[in-house]
Amino acid sequence: MLSIKRVPTVVSNYQKDEAEEVSRRGGCGRNCLNKCCIEGAKIPLYAFKELNKIACSKGLCCQYENSVPPVAFLDSLLLGEWEDRMQHGLFRYDVTACETKVIPGKYGFIAQLNEGRHLKKRPTEFRVDKVLQPFDGSKFNFTKVGQEEVLFRFEPNENGGDTEFIPNAPVDVENSPSVVAINVSPIEYGHVLLIPRVLECFPQRIDPESFLLALHMAAEAGNAYFRLGYNSLGAFATINHLHFQAYYLAVPFPIEKAPMKKIITLKDGVLVSELLKYPVRGLVFEGGNSLQALSNSVSDACIYLQENNIPFNVLIADCGQRIFLLPQCYAEKQALGEVSSELLETQVNPAVWEISGHMVLKRKEDYEEASEENAWRLLAEVSLSEERFQEVCALIFEVINTGDAENAEGSPSCPKEESDACVKKVEAKNASPRLPVTGTQECLV
Ligand SMILES: [Zn+2]
Repeated sequence: MLSIKRVPTVVSNYQKDEAEEVSRRGGCGRNCLNKCCIEGAKIPLYAFKELNKIACSKGLCCQYENSVPPVAFLDSLLLGEWEDRMQHGLFRYDVTACETKVIPGKYGFIAQLNEGRHLKKRPTEFRVDKVLQPFDGSKFNFTKVGQEEVLFRFEPNENGGDTEFIPNAPVDVENSPSVVAINVSPIEYGHVLLIPRVLECFPQRIDPESFLLALHMAAEAGNAYFRLGYNSLGAFATINHLHFQAYYLAVPFPIEKAPMKKIITLKDGVLVSELLKYPVRGLVFEGGNSLQALSNSVSDACIYLQENNIPFNVLIADCGQRIFLLPQCYAEKQALGEVSSELLETQVNPAVWEISGHMVLKRKEDYEEASEENAWRLLAEVSLSEERFQEVCALIFEVINTGDAENAEGSPSCPKEESDACVKKVEAKNASPRLPVTGTQECLV
């Protein structure tokens, strides 16, 4: 078993104090999200209208052409509630006081000095060689967060109606809510977590419905500076409970400015390109006949990666209309002792934000000496080799094109037998002797 000592960042105030005394408020006493306390609770509900079409390049502008949204999703609901939690002292440090700068150079990498983020830490043995691991209720998970950390529920409007906002919506335990909660160790302004169907206790793995929910959140925000990200296990997710992250940062990310080369147009119109002139090799998905089509293409690709134990990160940019998919192998190289001590000493974990060009640095000297070369050197270690990347892409395209062709129109996901068949096919292909076995200099994922 490949494993390294990981120091997970505390993302909820309830992560570290599990043995804390219980008060007599009823339930478990912590007013948590779990079944002990959630019954009868009221949490604001933002029920969005499901978008069937991406009708114009500005995303939501068309949806609200003839009507006014019930509440400004990003500016007043999400950021307003986030600031409210800041005033109530729920964060572990004041992220707005962290120094940030754009590193001089062609790419515009962004460096942030965040000395507070890793101070409160609890060493954990964490497997890095398995992308899919079963949910373990004894470890920290988001059912343990306090209800005060939750900003609102984010769910599709069940009746297919227009977007609605209900400030005091009672929680129905039978119908597990999807919630947006603060990240108590924020790396930027408005840093939140989207936790799909929190009470279902899904492990950290992509499924089509949850991925579509994340795209809807980006679309509702309607601001290209508000992005969502996803880290798989083995690619610096620290909690094995399904979640996406998101925050607001009003500069373009270097990855968003990188040139791209078109590779393929899928049957449903989704265009897939390859990133060029960027230290991490990756795929870019955009366009398509509907948000659902775009979502299905990316989630099928993610499902291929996780079923085949290839760690990856996802950046949802441009209001949900452009998605970067980045398979990576840094943790594995780290476990194999192939990362230089100079890079290891920085303790930077290259997760989705770092890969996108927002470098969260833990040491003052790294911040002061931050340069494009240093950022590039770190990110180059994250990337699959060119040969391995091309292999992985070829397999992904086979799966997603097949999947689309076999999918009945309007069906949200592949029926189980079909996806099993897909996986078997992929496994057979992986076992094929025609695929070269990578050497020690290569990523073994
Ligand atoms: Zn409770």
